[in-house]
Amino acid sequence: MTILGQQFIGGEALKGANGEIFGVNASNGEKLEPGFGGATKADLERACALAEAAFRPYRETSLEDRALFLEAIADNIAALGDELIERCMAESGLPRPRLEGERGRTIGQLRMFAGVVRDGGFLEARVDPAMPERKPLPRVDLRLRNIAVGPVAVFGASNFPLAFSVAGGDTASALAAGCPVIAKAHSAHPGTSELVGRAVSKAVKDRGLPEGTFALLFDSGREIGQGLVADHRIKAVGFTGSRGGGTALMKIAASRKQPIPVYAEMSSINPVVLFPAALTARGEAIGKAFTASLILGAGQFCTNPGLVVAIEGEGLDAFLKGAAEALTETPAAVMLTPGIHKAYSEGVEKLGSHASVETLARGQEGGTLRGRSAIFTVSAEAFLSAPELQEEVFGSSSLVVRCRNEEEVAKVVDGLEGQLTVAIHIDEADHAAAAKLLPRLEETAGRILVNGFGTGVEVGHAMVHGGPFPATSDGRTTSVGSLAIYRFLRPVSYQDFPVALQPEAVKDGNPLKLWRRVDGKLGQN
Ligand code: NAP
Repeated sequence: MTILGQQFIGGEALKGANGEIFGVNASNGEKLEPGFGGATKADLERACALAEAAFRPYRETSLEDRALFLEAIADNIAALGDELIERCMAESGLPRPRLEGERGRTIGQLRMFAGVVRDGGFLEARVDPAMPERKPLPRVDLRLRNIAVGPVAVFGASNFPLAFSVAGGDTASALAAGCPVIAKAHSAHPGTSELVGRAVSKAVKDRGLPEGTFALLFDSGREIGQGLVADHRIKAVGFTGSRGGGTALMKIAASRKQPIPVYAEMSSINPVVLFPAALTARGEAIGKAFTASLILGAGQFCTNPGLVVAIEGEGLDAFLKGAAEALTETPAAVMLTPGIHKAYSEGVEKLGSHASVETLARGQEGGTLRGRSAIFTVSAEAFLSAPELQEEVFGSSSLVVRCRNEEEVAKVVDGLEGQLTVAIHIDEADHAAAAKLLPRLEETAGRILVNGFGTGVEVGHAMVHGGPFPATSDGRTTSVGSLAIYRFLRPVSYQDFPVALQPEAVKDGNPLKLWRRVDGKLGQN
């Protein structure tokens, strides 16, 4: 067993001396050994000082060196083998195939960012050559490239203990950008965090990088995490988790002497809009597919379909029949943590006892710490007058809003908060109505999908996992896919630089062979 309750600072594994936290077996609530020492204020100070010292040399590592580092992390995570999967299963209650898939995704996104770094396009290199003869005034020589913003604090989420945690998308994109990372381990999966933290630390050492390039801290309370965001050496925060947690960290970041951006991915109910022709043609089948998506991973996906919007009629009745039949057979499922189970049970209870809400179906009851799935219905009129019905219930619970006509559907969409995804189900006869609704959907969500559900987020170059608040704190960004790197970059212009001082990315002769915009035209010149 290689889990020793240790954090990582400056390449050293050490046990924190500020209290102790334990992992919990998600399926039975039992304490898992060993205890993890919480970081002290001195640990936090040391991690921040080392990250600051690492920043300058690390951000100027060659593109190839940085890519090799990301690939080394991926290889080290793969080499953790079954110990990682077994510990993660115990801590999260998630099944083996799901976690093996998530490990593949985590490794895959590290490799994708290695490719992004080698490509160099993220540097956005531009050259506007001087025009000394220009009249009435000569033009200066201007060159632009992106540089890394500085050390980044990363807070992972409980529901993706690998892909959104210690070496998840935030860490991978920050390291790719050239930022040292200090990760705050999630208390729901400390053992998983230590194993992955060791894999990253080993890659730092093996690749000969500055020792402050990466640190992992445990927090026995909230002091260390909050202190990390408040520390003047941290220049940006990546967060995935609850709305309460994200907004608390945003406030701390905004009240610093030098405020910094917090890229927080928070809550979303991922509306599904069902159009009439699709419902008439295959309402029952859509209902069954919807339930399958709703119950996936006990509903603990940020892209879980928590809201359905549709016009009343036979098609919607068929949908509700299909969805309810499938849900009734669904066994209760282990949830990630006792806290999430409690919040889910309370959320379902609150929805079920709301004066305007009817219970359509419940899944099967189960043992302790298991979530029982639920589908509710409400009229559009009632939904529009009760903003609390939009609150995320994290788990397999969804609310179907019955509308009288197209105008009411548009009103419901207009009243929605920002979302990660919106799914529409359409047939050809629905195209005109869908086109009419599309501008509203674009203004609401980061990703719009046709005849599917938002669960299952492809890691690629055209993916947006983001959206207006509260889906994220900054709807101009994404936390999944290669575009995520831009959160941790900042453009710098170089005016009238002699060739000897020009950064390589924008140097005369293009020594890095980058695709650059010279006088606005993209080319490898
Ligand atoms: P969480 O409770 O907010 O925890 C996330 C991290 O933030 C943990 O490290 C936690 O520390 C820390 N934290 C929370 N509140 C804090 C505070 N006030 N001060 C300092 N640190 C704080 O979220 P979670 O339970 O892991 O995840 C479930 C939620 O995440 C759901 O609402 C889900 O929808 C959302 N989520 C969103 C996305 C997305 O992309 N939008 C993705 C996944 C999940 P501790 O470890 O000490 O608790």
